[in-house]
Parts: sequence; C-alpha cells; structure tokens
Amino acid sequence: MSDGPTIAGMTAAELDAADPLAAFRDEFEIPDGIYLVGNSLGALPKLAREYVNTELDRWATLGVEGHFTGRLGWKDYHELVADQLAAIVGGHRDEVVAMNALTVNLHVLMVSFYRPTPQRHKILIEAHAFPSDHFAAESQIRQRGFDPADSLITIEPRAGEETLVAEDILAAIAEHGDELALVMLPGVHYYTGQVMPMADIVAAGHAVGAQVGFDLAHAVGNIELALHDWDVDFAAWCSYKYLNSGPGGVAGAFVHQRHINDQSLPKFLGWWGTNPATRFEMATEFDPIPTVDSWQLSNAPILPMAALRASLDIIERAGGMPALRAKSEKQIEFFDRRLEETLAGRVENITPRALHERGCQYALQVLAGEGKHVFEALEEARVLCDWREPDVIRAAPVPLYNSFADIDRFVDILDGIVA
Ligand SMILES: *Cc1c(COP(=O)(O)O)cnc(C)c1O
Repeated sequence: MSDGPTIAGMTAAELDAADPLAAFRDEFEIPDGIYLVGNSLGALPKLAREYVNTELDRWATLGVEGHFTGRLGWKDYHELVADQLAAIVGGHRDEVVAMNALTVNLHVLMVSFYRPTPQRHKILIEAHAFPSDHFAAESQIRQRGFDPADSLITIEPRAGEETLVAEDILAAIAEHGDELALVMLPGVHYYTGQVMPMADIVAAGHAVGAQVGFDLAHAVGNIELALHDWDVDFAAWCSYKYLNSGPGGVAGAFVHQRHINDQSLPKFLGWWGTNPATRFEMATEFDPIPTVDSWQLSNAPILPMAALRASLDIIERAGGMPALRAKSEKQIEFFDRRLEETLAGRVENITPRALHERGCQYALQVLAGEGKHVFEALEEARVLCDWREPDVIRAAPVPLYNSFADIDRFVDILDGIVA
C-alpha cells in the first residue's frame, strides 16, 4: 500500500512485513501461545535478565559498597529511570519518580492532595473503580474523620451503557462544586478500556477548586500522556502492565511542578525524601529534595528497578510512545476490521470506537452469553487473555511485542469457538 496511511485490505503478513517495530518482538520472552494479556502483566524483556544479573553480581562482589559505587550506585538508582518515565507520561524530570507500589502511591499522594474540610470533603471516583482505588479513597476518607456515605461520590455509566459519557463526568464535577476536594479517576478504564478525557476533567476539577489525580495503571505505556501540560495535580501507576517491569514491579508517581516546593502540603516523610548530600549524616531535620523525589520514603528495591530499566531502555529505542501509539492505531484498525468481518453480531467490543477514547485493550462480550466458557476455551487453545467479571474477555495487542498475526490468529480461534 503506498497511498496514505490506510491499511485497508492489507493482510496480517503484509502488515507485519511493513512494521518498523516488528523486530522488537525478539527482545522479549513470550509464553507459548498467543499472548494478549500485556494489559495485566507485560512480557519479559530479555534485557531484564542482564540488568538484574548485573545487580546480583554487584551485590555479590561489592556488598554494601554497591550503594555508593559507580554510576549505578544503588543510592541514586531511581534517578536512572526518571527521564524515561517522564517522557512516557509527559512530565518533567522533577515531576516523576519510580517508587513503591501503585496503591501505596495513591495513599501517599492522597495524604498530600486530599485535604478535606467540613465544607469541602468529597472525593469523586467512578462507580466501577478498580477495587483497590475504591478502598484507598474510602479509607482515606475515614482516616480524616469523614464518612464515605457522605464523602465518597461515584459516577456511573448511563442506564444500559458500559462506558462513561464525558459530559456526565464534567457535570458531576460541577454539581458537587465547592464540596468537592478531589477527583480521582483512571486514565484508561481497566474493564472497558475507555480513555478518560483527562485534560477536560482537570479543567473542570480546577474550575470548582478541587484537586485532580489519575490512576494510570492502564494508561501508562499504552496511550500518549501529557500530565504536565494537562495540569494534572498528581498521578500514580504500576509498571508491570504496559511497562513490562515484572510481577509486583516498582510503581511510579507524578506531582505537578507547581506543588513540589509547597511546604504547606501535608506529606508522609521518609529518609529517601531528604537531601541526599546530608542524608547519611543522620540528622533528623527533614531537608526536602526540591523535586517529587521528596515524596520517596524508602531506598529503592534495586532488582525490580533493574528490570524496569531494561524495559524503559527498549521502549526508548523503539521510539517511545509516539512510535508505539502509531503502531497501536494500525493494530486497532486491523483488529476492528477482522472482528467486523468475522464476528459481527456474535462478539461485541464495548471499548469506545473513537481512537481518542481507546488504547490497545479490547473488552469483548459474547452476545449469546457463555462468555466465561468461551474464555476457558481460549485458554485451552493457549490464547492468553483474561476474564473480568461480570462479562468481559480482555485482549490487548501490545505494539511493542504483539504482531498483526497474533490478532489474526486470535480472531480465527475465537471465531472457531463461538461458532
Ligand atoms: C492493576 C491495577 C491496580 C493494582 O494495584 P497494585 O497496588 O499494583 O496492586 C490498582 N488499580 C488499578 C486501576 C489497576 O488497574
């Protein structure tokens, strides 16, 4: 195809042959079968073995001196990933840090950005939030002496619909107005795959005087983000999904520049947030690092950080998010076409149709019911995807390592099962 960007009519083999990222598949160890579950656990970058082994060797030979020795000294190790993470989320270097786990970061950031008063005490989340996010918000409310029955408000899809309507989110923010302390929504919904209108949500939240934070678990490494320019107050994400850092990998956090040196913000403190030049003098006066690093509590877990570095190096070499998203959009077009040709009327994707409202994840419903059985038959056929209650098979072609042929075979196998 030489005319324009369209891929209409091209076969999977032609698309794979023309794919500038095709070779990256070889940089991963992918389980046997068709791996379409990078939305849950990204595949293993081969480079991770090397980077983790380097740290094991340094541990073996240097022992405690590994903290202070060389460019990769463990005490500064988190700084090695900050630039790459910042590029992925559209933040500045001083706004982004790798630390903790996702739910921990939501808590740590809510300590700073959920500051309820008797007048302004509500948190807006969505009714079908990932349970961890719901629990985190609910427990933060209780912790401050408020009652979730009054202070936790949820936004739902319209009756009979699966995804949220942008105007409904903005209207809910306006409605709760000066009682709203915090809006905390996903960047991409874990179940439906819907991309939220993040910039509009931030503007609406700020217009009523609320803080706005995002859980980017399903957004980071999947869609292009511009957290700084969108004026997002804070965000958190895990890195084991689209950032391929391995099970339980180190999460990330973003705090907008304008908050970083606000000493009036309440904050949980730890020794990794204080000035590294004086940290080891063991003084008990906290001297905050003038970046988001001041939110760090503990020294970084080096082995998972090494695995994360490996993946970030590969993403950077692949051309970063613009390159990944460009391929992803082609894969979406191809996947849509194959579903429509093959499974129309039998399997429906509830993910929104418009490109700006979706990432690479599909949320498939089997219209005749029996979705769970179809999912089990997919597993039998060594198609790795996942089932989410009540009713969805999630399948995510990840542009970094999934081929067009993966999508093609998935649709054929699903067709065989549903027939
Ligand atoms: C994956 C995911 C989590 C997982 O939280 P952890 O703290 O990493 O265990 C939380 N929230 C959302 C929205 C997720 O998608």
